[in-house]
Amino acid sequence: LLAGMANALGLALRGLRTIAAGRTMLAEHEREAGERLRLLTALSTRQRLLETVLSIQRAIGGRKPLQEILDAVTSGAGRLLDEAAVTLVLPDQPAGQLRTASTFGPAERSGDPLVLAAAAEAMEANCVVARTTGRTPSGYRSIVAAPVTVRGVVAGSLAAETADGHGHVVEQRELLTAFAQQVGLALTDARTAAAIHDAHHDQVTGLPNRALFLDRVTTALTAGNARVESVTVLLIDLHRFKTVNDGLGHRAGDTVLAAVADRIRGCLRTGDLLARIGGDEFGVLLDGAGNQAGVRVARSVIDAIREPFRMTGRTMYLTACVGVAASGTSSADAGDLLTNADVALNRAKQAGPGRTEVFEPHMHTEILERLNLLDDLQLAVARAELRLQYQPLVDLATGVPVGVEALARWRHPQRGEISPATFIPLAEETGLILDLGLWILREGCRQVAEWRGTIPDMRLNINVSGRQAMDPDFVTRVAKALADVDLPGGMLTLELTESILMHDPELAMVQLRQLKNLGVRLAIDDFGTGYSSLSYLRQFPVDQLKIDRAFVTGAATGGDQLAVTRTVMDLGRTLRLETVAEGIEDDEQLAVLRGIGCDLGQGFLLARPMEPDAIRAYFTT
Ligand code: C2E
Ligand code: CA
Ligand code: CA
Repeated sequence: LLAGMANALGLALRGLRTIAAGRTMLAEHEREAGERLRLLTALSTRQRLLETVLSIQRAIGGRKPLQEILDAVTSGAGRLLDEAAVTLVLPDQPAGQLRTASTFGPAERSGDPLVLAAAAEAMEANCVVARTTGRTPSGYRSIVAAPVTVRGVVAGSLAAETADGHGHVVEQRELLTAFAQQVGLALTDARTAAAIHDAHHDQVTGLPNRALFLDRVTTALTAGNARVESVTVLLIDLHRFKTVNDGLGHRAGDTVLAAVADRIRGCLRTGDLLARIGGDEFGVLLDGAGNQAGVRVARSVIDAIREPFRMTGRTMYLTACVGVAASGTSSADAGDLLTNADVALNRAKQAGPGRTEVFEPHMHTEILERLNLLDDLQLAVARAELRLQYQPLVDLATGVPVGVEALARWRHPQRGEISPATFIPLAEETGLILDLGLWILREGCRQVAEWRGTIPDMRLNINVSGRQAMDPDFVTRVAKALADVDLPGGMLTLELTESILMHDPELAMVQLRQLKNLGVRLAIDDFGTGYSSLSYLRQFPVDQLKIDRAFVTGAATGGDQLAVTRTVMDLGRTLRLETVAEGIEDDEQLAVLRGIGCDLGQGFLLARPMEPDAIRAYFTT
């Protein structure tokens, strides 16, 4: 029995052992199978990650729209993270506020404050952050966020919210970091592309800018035979665009510019290039066309711009000027061609709105001469080449001279006498008039103060240019010039033109008031050639009205001119202004002006502009 029992026990033990061994084996198998599965999953995840990343990189390389790429990143990451909700946040450009740039997964989860907080944290720390939140009943919920960097600088964050959490956090970190890198790459690429575009395009019109235009002209010149007229450049300038900008604001100005660009484009063929060269200047490149085609295009552009612009309830009228220059006429490179077109444009502007000029080589010489003249003018005061002549103003009723008008003279060492009609505008354009005008003012005051020792009550008229009159220092300079030589303010009359006053009436009013406070008298020069509006004349504190020579000349022959002169005299009397007739050349004119009661006269008949030496004799005999 015992032996039998032992046998049975042995059997049972063996069975048990077998069972135990079988169990261990099974467990081993299960473990191995699990391992293999995990390995497989990991491998396939890797594989999918690789494929997804590759397709994203292809999209970046192919310059797909940025949003499309960002969406591919969030959806790729979401799928690889077992359908997790993925959010990409980027700070908004100037404000820096976080903005959701792309999401994947349930819509209600995007914009979740916890996700946004994790994203912000990742950006702040510039490293991956993981948080476990226990909000779902089915298990853990975790949020992982990885920073996005562009050239080493944090530029956003990619955050994922998964339902299973825990064990996989390490893998999730790696995955998310890989995707965040893709976002960084996409952003870097997009920003580089934008920077390149911006560097070559104008923001307002979207047109190529000067740099790109020059580049294209260069290409056209090298491609074609630059010796013949094969490349033509047009420069288009809007007349008085500044008034649109000043009057309606820059935003409206920009809209108008964009509309102008459209109009110009409408005059071009495909293949012609339109660019914005500067503020209100456009450039057109005609490849394979000469001056004649250039002029044709210029005319149609001018006509197109002349059509009224209707925007936001307003109708605006613009005019343009065009300068045309073709290759082959002395121009070597793109820069030269553009300069030539610019020279022609300036010519056109001088000729008046709506004009087109074609560049010709002699235009360069003229400009060079002007520049040389300007250099010389700069030195003229120091070299004592400038002097003043004086032309008497005569009381027409008594024939007695009452004062002089100072007239600037320039004797150029090589060119001889140069008219103030030439050098004053040159000085005005460059600002040199401020120094020049100051010298004239001081010298005139000094001279007349000296003469007043022997010729009591002698008055002085000085011409003042626009830039000079509106200069903030002008009033103090006048005050000082008077004080330095003890000349009473009332003895000085400053001659201004109507256009000076009309340019900026408010500023003019301020300046004139201050001058009046010095006791200085004010005259309107060349009256009749400008606006000649009675209403504005009344508001300015003017003392003297100088009727332009054109009316004086015509007055003696009767008709319109005489009628105008008579009206001006009446006006002068009504406004209690002293009237002066300029350019009296013969007895008949003198008689007519005396007859209609003009106060003072000036002209070759009475006295020519004289050197200072001659003045004393004129006044004392
Ligand atoms: P304006 O102020 O109208 O000066 C009068 C001009 O008419 C002077 O020419 C004078 O010589 C000329 N004139 C005088 N009487 C007669 C006449 O009977 N017949 C003719 N045909 N002409 C006569 P000028 O000296 O050549 O000056 C030309 C312009 O240059 C002046 O015109 C004035 O606008 C400007 N100018 C002259 N000197 C100065 C100056 O010191 N400062 C400024 N800002 N402008 C000046
Ligand atoms: Ca004058
Ligand atoms: Ca005058």
